[in-house]
Amino acid sequence: MRHGFLLDLDGTLYHGDRPIPYAAEFIRWLREKGYPFLYVTNNSSRTPEQVAAHLIKTGIEAKPEEVLTSSQAAVMYLQETGARNGRVLYIGEEGLRTALKDGGFEPVTEDAPVGTVAAVVQGIDRAFHYGKLLAAVRYIRGGAPYILTNPDHLLPWNGGLMPGAGSIAASIERASETPPIVIGKPSPIIMRYAVAKLGLAPGEIWTVGDNLNTDIRGGADAGCRTALVLTGLANAANVDEQMARTGVRPERICTHLMELAESLG
Ligand SMILES: [Mg+2]
Repeated sequence: MRHGFLLDLDGTLYHGDRPIPYAAEFIRWLREKGYPFLYVTNNSSRTPEQVAAHLIKTGIEAKPEEVLTSSQAAVMYLQETGARNGRVLYIGEEGLRTALKDGGFEPVTEDAPVGTVAAVVQGIDRAFHYGKLLAAVRYIRGGAPYILTNPDHLLPWNGGLMPGAGSIAASIERASETPPIVIGKPSPIIMRYAVAKLGLAPGEIWTVGDNLNTDIRGGADAGCRTALVLTGLANAANVDEQMARTGVRPERICTHLMELAESLG
């Protein structure tokens, strides 16, 4: 049987700068077998080049073209839905700005002269401030579609948590009274682009990750096979409680990535 893989990054292949045991071995196994795969990340802040460089730093071979970020998927969605013109108000970091430029859009900030923008696209922005909120809300209330790269409201950070794009989105949604179009996992939008990029049927694709709510829910909703690894958000101690709370059940639960590889042969 053919297998393809959509792989989560943080908590699945590395923790921050620390490699996760068996991750590099798993990627070597995929390459030896010739199984197609894609690194799929909800992180909108990095460019594919930066994502690949980070993977290489943790000992995992990676190329930018093997990466799909939520920023890239947001731009694919803009293109697919025929944004009215090329100007996009963005609230985000380098990964989002670069993806917009690469997609032929003109990323503008809250300082841009007043005029119509095709859309408001928002990701994580560690320099978020009131002026950006004001600009986003003005354009969204004026009819511009509001696109959110990823819904994660908290992110693991130095053993603690930091607010993610979803927490910024809560303020924009509140003031604009408009729910965003969500692109990243578990949204079917990024899953559809990821599946298309692999060129396999969803039933041939394993979605692999440490997060039941995003990786596993997104994979299952897209008709993919699902494998939860107990190396990140989910671990051996909390997996039963997490499954009960989310109502999400993966097809496989693996203590590490090579366990999945060995089971597939
Ligand atoms: Mg993860």
